[in-house]
Amino acid sequence: MNRKDLTNQRFGRLIALRPTEERHGSRLVWECQCDCGKKTMVPTDQLINGNVRSCGCLQRENRYKDATGRRIGKLTANEPVPDLFYGGEPIWRWRCDCGRIVRKTLGQVGNSASTMCPFCRRELNRSQAEQMRKLQNRDPVSGMSPGALESMMDGKLHKNNSSGVRGVCWHRRLGKWQARVFSHGKCVWGEYFSDLQQAKEARERVLAEKYGNKENKKE
Ligand SMILES: [Zn+2]
Ligand SMILES: [Zn+2]
Repeated sequence: MNRKDLTNQRFGRLIALRPTEERHGSRLVWECQCDCGKKTMVPTDQLINGNVRSCGCLQRENRYKDATGRRIGKLTANEPVPDLFYGGEPIWRWRCDCGRIVRKTLGQVGNSASTMCPFCRRELNRSQAEQMRKLQNRDPVSGMSPGALESMMDGKLHKNNSSGVRGVCWHRRLGKWQARVFSHGKCVWGEYFSDLQQAKEARERVLAEKYGNKENKKE
């Protein structure tokens, strides 16, 4: 049992007056004075963890504190979710510029220009990574320039193709031939070989096994 003496301590708008005979589970229930003039009963743990910070007047005020139309980053507050609170704050329904809805309190959304829904966050991270690769002007695996890589994906031999064999290129860093199979623009198989002929044959084997040798022209 928590016998912590909270007498005269302040918790938000509440000041703990005295412990009562009431119990909430094993916890003491305190009689508290709210700044608004009302008295209220609150269990010890609810005071300490900050769940209860008023007689209820704070929530009522916050509930009517209108965030409607408030724009933070890509998010615009639509409406409060009825009777849903987090840490005493009302949870709002926010519409992201992409149309998705997120449910957060004003405090959770934070005041950042880069505020957005989790989906947009992932997209942004992905496009930033993409941008980075383009800046470095080479594919991270093959070390090929974007042009050469696209040509290979298109199934054409790029004039800079270092091997002269489709789907096989020279990996400068490793000093090996890299054979790869693409499907719908994604690398679905890749291996390194010291020997160009081996690389070519291994790639043909994979194509025959997995794709019946009918390599998608749009690979
Ligand atoms: Zn109050
Ligand atoms: Zn979004």
